[in-house]
Amino acid sequence: MRVLGAAELLSLWERGMPRHALDRAALLAAAARPDWPAESIADLPLGDIGASLLRLRAANFGMHVDAHADCRHCGQRLSFALDVAELLAEAPPDDAIERQTEVAGLCLRAPSLRDLAAVAALEPADAADALLARCTLAGRPAMLDDAARMQVDEALEALDPQADLAFSLNCVACGREDTVQLDAAALLWDEISARAGALLQEVHQLARSYGWSEAQILALTATRRTQYLALVESAS
Ligand SMILES: [Zn+2]
Repeated sequence: MRVLGAAELLSLWERGMPRHALDRAALLAAAARPDWPAESIADLPLGDIGASLLRLRAANFGMHVDAHADCRHCGQRLSFALDVAELLAEAPPDDAIERQTEVAGLCLRAPSLRDLAAVAALEPADAADALLARCTLAGRPAMLDDAARMQVDEALEALDPQADLAFSLNCVACGREDTVQLDAAALLWDEISARAGALLQEVHQLARSYGWSEAQILALTATRRTQYLALVESAS
């Protein structure tokens, strides 16, 4: 997986900032997988996208993730640590992924970023129905009873297990269990934003002290930037 150069990371951050979260996920996936045709990314199964983003995150920011979520029951902020390697352990190689499944008289495909964007403005229950309708290649999803609908949900989960990075946490305040949904794009974006902010600060300091251009400063290795910053600091 690619390690982003300083200039590339800043460019990615600048292009990603004004985008909607789903569009930003597509941008980050394109950076993670330059071998994927750009126009195909919005139509790939969500699990492929998520795994590519986790791999890019691991290559650039390490395997360890410190994250937090608010308890749905009492609002307590819960901190937890994750290991990207564990999250990726179950990710099948791209070419081993089954793209379609048949269940309850339907033929289904895994949802994509384009599907999520199409239903993003709907109420949650309507969005789930609309998503299923979009992902149905054959059959009539509106005719399903509750038991069949549950089968369908399980089949979709099995079709693209990496799409739903969820796990349970016990709340330290109220003791109840909550399910936390992990957003790989948001995890990666937080790191990119923080790194971009730090890089801009470094450019600002070094440009002011040495008169170098932004391009010259970003072309330095991180080790050299750190050394020069230490010299600037010690001289002031
Ligand atoms: Zn709680």
